Amino acid sequence: MITITAHGAAREVTGSKHLLDTGEARILVDCGVFQGRREETHLKNGSFPFDPASLDACVATHGHLDHCGSYPLLVRRGFAGRVLATAATRDLARLVMLDSARIQAADARFLAKDEGRRRRGRKVYPAVYDEGDAEAAAARFDTVPYGAASAIAPGVTVRLSDAGHILGSSIVRFDVARGGAPLSIAFTGDLGRAGSPILHDLENPGPVDYLVCESTYGDRLHDDLSTVEDELAEVIRETTAKGGRVIIPAFAIGRTQELVYHLHLLHEAGRIPPVPVFVDSPMAISATEIFKAHPECYDAQTVHRFLDNNESPFAFDALHYLKTKEESQRLNNVRMPCVLISASGMCEAGRILHHLLLGVGDHRNTILIVGFMGAHTLGRALADKQKQVRIFGEPHEVKARVKILNAFSAHADRDEIGTWVGALDRSRLKAAFLVHGEASACEALKAKLLGDGVPRVEILEPGVPAALD
Ligand SMILES: [Zn+2]
Repeated sequence: MITITAHGAAREVTGSKHLLDTGEARILVDCGVFQGRREETHLKNGSFPFDPASLDACVATHGHLDHCGSYPLLVRRGFAGRVLATAATRDLARLVMLDSARIQAADARFLAKDEGRRRRGRKVYPAVYDEGDAEAAAARFDTVPYGAASAIAPGVTVRLSDAGHILGSSIVRFDVARGGAPLSIAFTGDLGRAGSPILHDLENPGPVDYLVCESTYGDRLHDDLSTVEDELAEVIRETTAKGGRVIIPAFAIGRTQELVYHLHLLHEAGRIPPVPVFVDSPMAISATEIFKAHPECYDAQTVHRFLDNNESPFAFDALHYLKTKEESQRLNNVRMPCVLISASGMCEAGRILHHLLLGVGDHRNTILIVGFMGAHTLGRALADKQKQVRIFGEPHEVKARVKILNAFSAHADRDEIGTWVGALDRSRLKAAFLVHGEASACEALKAKLLGDGVPRVEILEPGVPAALD
């Protein structure tokens, strides 16, 4: 019997780990970390509900932490196979895994030093892996280009198609040999929006019998992508005219490069004032280097507009990348109108906290929300337009304007997922299994897909195998 089990990102959006078991081979699609409250995070990210040594191989859909951050622990706990991915995903995953090792070490040191915490009997959580484990995991990655079929385990071939979500992101299609025609199963990973800048649009993986589909925005519709530059320009013009700053918490991988791309075009066309644009995130700077190294992932428009003119989409004269802590701190003393892009995207850690601390109380500033904000994060509190938020444990009144630009999402919305599923060959599709969405999003997408004629749609429960026939 062939089964699929979601060991993470089932009725939630982080910790993607999906196990395909053919009876002869066990393959894990993604091995991401769970992100949430500290105790639960440590519990869920410190062990696996399966034996890592029992896996034949893994496939990494893309280099986001919630999809690749647990490979180092998987290798440490005995996984000895290879992790198949595109070259861009390998590079981004290595960056993300190393960064995660460093953050865990810093967090453990911080907690160990917290005497009060110890006196109160609160637990101290050690790092679950270190930089050596991250390098060992990166060495297990084996790269394959989009569209090439590779034998990955006994009786199973795999082929990656572009998911259009972030650089190198893939939809994974397995063909499992059996009597007669092979059984085909596609895992979407995270699906991007058609028409997003820089990247190719999401592809069709061909006819499949089963689909494991993400549903992050299964209950929402995004704004039209075509107006995103106009809206961005308007926010920048209005804010800088008042002498304020546009503070943008942005994911270091993907969103930052997308913003830089749009700002580059706006700047060049003279559609925004010539104020400085700062990217203040070492991680975003490293990720941008990886974007530069993989032009094979760019769409025709980006190639035509930039590469054909020997230009980089990620550099223009008003743009400054702030690498060191000193450069970042110097920015705090200079109160000039500017655009400031910083991580982390959900405002949970990193340099963005200092910029929000300084900027949130100034009515001239705009905090521009351009990404998904998980529950219980500072980013969600801001996006929900709460009047007071906590930064570094202290309450702060929000006087800055908070503006949300939904068009920037790296995830397809309900109708975009519907359109993509609708283009699959219906004569073969037996069922879709939904993962990677909060309950309301999964339910809404289920209703949409059933309404569109998908014969069977199920929301996967964590750890409960779904049988394929
Ligand atoms: Zn993602």
